[in-house]
Formats: sequence, C-alpha cells, structure tokens
Amino acid sequence: MSTVAVLVETRSGEVTQPTFEALTLARTLGTPVAVWIGAAPEPAELARLGVYGAEEVRVVPAGDDARVPAAAAAALGAATQDAAVVVMVSTFVNKEVATRLALATGAGVVVDAAGAELVDGHVETLQTVFAATWNVRTRIAAERAIVAVRPNTTQAIAGETPGAATLVEVGAELPETREAIVAIEPVPAPEGVPLAEAPVVVSGGRGTNGDYTLVRELADVLGGAVGASRDATDEGWISHEHMVGQTGTTVTPALYVACGISGAVHHRGGMQASGTVVAVNIDPDAPIFEIADFGVVGDLGDVLPQAIARIHEHRAG
Ligand SMILES: Cc1cc2nc3c(=O)[nH]c(=O)nc-3n(C[C@H](O)[C@H](O)[C@H](O)COP(=O)(O)OP(=O)(O)OC[C@H]3O[C@@H](n4cnc5c(N)ncnc54)[C@H](O)[C@@H]3O)c2cc1C
Repeated sequence: MSTVAVLVETRSGEVTQPTFEALTLARTLGTPVAVWIGAAPEPAELARLGVYGAEEVRVVPAGDDARVPAAAAAALGAATQDAAVVVMVSTFVNKEVATRLALATGAGVVVDAAGAELVDGHVETLQTVFAATWNVRTRIAAERAIVAVRPNTTQAIAGETPGAATLVEVGAELPETREAIVAIEPVPAPEGVPLAEAPVVVSGGRGTNGDYTLVRELADVLGGAVGASRDATDEGWISHEHMVGQTGTTVTPALYVACGISGAVHHRGGMQASGTVVAVNIDPDAPIFEIADFGVVGDLGDVLPQAIARIHEHRAG
C-alpha cells in the first residue's frame, strides 16, 4: 500500500477534529502517516493520531515562520517525498500550501473536496461547486495527488487496530519568504465550536429580529455553532465571524438549521452542501424551503422552544 501523508492541524497544541477526518479518509487510500509542522507534539496528541491510523508522525521542527504558506509547503514537501497522496484540511491557508506543493512537485491538486477514493489506481475526488448546484468527480491523472478536504465531509472513525504512532524527525530547509510573521496574537474565539468545522450549525437571520437567545440555545443543545445571514450581521445583531454565505464562511455541517432566513442565493452558496438542511420560516414560499430536507412553517418563537424541549426530552428518555 502506498504512503498517504496527512498534514496535521492543531489548535492550542491539540489536533483538530478535521485532521482525524482526513486521517480516516487517508486510511481508505493507503497507509497513513501524519506530518506535524512545529514544536514536537505532546505524547497525548501522538497517541490520538495513532488511534486514527497514523503509523508514523513525521515532525518538521519549525517556528511560527512555517505558518507562511511558502514555508509550510517546503516543510510538507520535505516530509512527504515518498507519499503518493497528500491529504490536508481545506482551510484558507492550506489551499495555498496545496497549490504551492503541487507546483513544486508536479502533483495534481484538488481543493475543497468532499471526499476521495482510489479508482483504477488513481485518486478521484468529489466536489460540490457553483454554490453547490453541481457535483463534480475529478480524476487526478498525475502520479502524485494532493487533496484538500472540507471539514465534516468524512466521519472521523478510529482505526480498527489502532497502534502507537512512531515519531520521526524530518529536517527541512525553509525558503526565504517575501513575507515575515511579526506577531501572532490569538483572537478570542467566538463562542463554541468554530463555524467552518462544526458538525451542526444553527443560523439565525432577519427573522430573529435581533434576538439570538433561542438560536444559541438550539445550537447549544445540538452541540453546534451559531451562524447568521449577512442581513443579521450587517444589522450588528451578531458579529461578522458568524456570517454564512458567499461573502461569509462556507460551511458543510452534517446538519444546518436555518431560522428566519429567506434563502437568498448568496446565503445558499455557503451552506447548500450541508448534509441535512432544516428550515424554520413563517413564509411557506421562502426560497430556503426549495433546498430544505425538512421544513417547518412557523414562528421561531413557537417552533424553537418546542424543538429544544423535545431534544431535552429525547436525551432524558
Ligand atoms: C454581493 C452580495 C453578497 C452577499 N453575501 C451574503 C452572504 O455571504 N451571506 C448572506 O447571508 N447574505 C449575503 N448577501 C445578502 C443576501 O442577498 C440576502 O439579503 C440575505 O441573505 C438575507 O438575509 P435574511 O435571510 O436574514 O433576511 P430576509 O431575506 O429578510 O429573510 C428573513 C426571513 O425571515 C422570515 N421570518 C421573519 N420573521 C420570522 C419569524 N418570526 N419566524 C420565522 N421566520 C421569520 C421571513 O419570512 C424571511 O423569509 C449578499 C448580497 C450581495 C449583494
């Protein structure tokens, strides 16, 4: 089986859930190894990578400068010379890392993939494009494939025979870059799970009339993140980091609940590829119902408290 390298994403030193999804996908393509750029991982993180199938964790020791995509691509390139496939999470920065690495190695690259499989010895990826109105299957004809996958498109499952991952240090010469990182300061994270990675997103629009109490409560009870339409963020009802859509964050959760959102094309472009879409709206002709798997015509003030109460009952029973 050929080597499939997975670039590890971390937050505060901990491996993120989308990395485990990428490792789960990598197991279907070959033998996964994880690539960790930065200070060596804590033993607990090494163990978690092993649980999801990484046989080896290749550490490229590097400082904050390796966050610049040109440097990250060089570090990743040094650690993946034997890999037939490189998988990473499709973040804003990684899309540049993926394309730079492809350019340097002659690999074929697909970003924003929703999955990948081996067909006749080639990697084929799935994508939803043009505001999720088309599904595209792409075959990577080059010998090496680089695939950036969207969060929540593969379910993270622990390996059947999870073992301890071996730590291997890899040296890399990082190039001089035209940008230099001067300082990195964490911005206080918006409440709960980050929007782009959340398995459940509950979004509120103009129909909330500025009161997000019920939307937050439903998101909380479902363990999800809070999203919003642009009208709601423009009104200043909720901060712009919560905006979902063409000019906001693209989300692909397993469950997307649109509360008091009409379903304008600009909003749909950022959420239409979600697994199951539920909409609550007083207007039965709201365009959001055209793409909803489950629609409730009703006032948020009536519907959401009932939904929250039933979920609590269900959990208790
Ligand atoms: C270039 C451009 C880029 C854009 N990018 C984005 C983007 O990224 N994301 C985005 O969201 N928008 C974006 N927009 C704006 C977009 O076109 C819409 O204007 C916006 O999405 C509408 O927000 P909304 O659905 O909250 O409001 P509305 O369209 O006003 O809809 C509110 C809905 O709430 C329902 N409602 C009202 N009261 C209740 C109630 N009590 N209970 C239940 N339902 C109720 C109404 O029936 C209605 O359907 C963009 C626009 C442009 C021009």
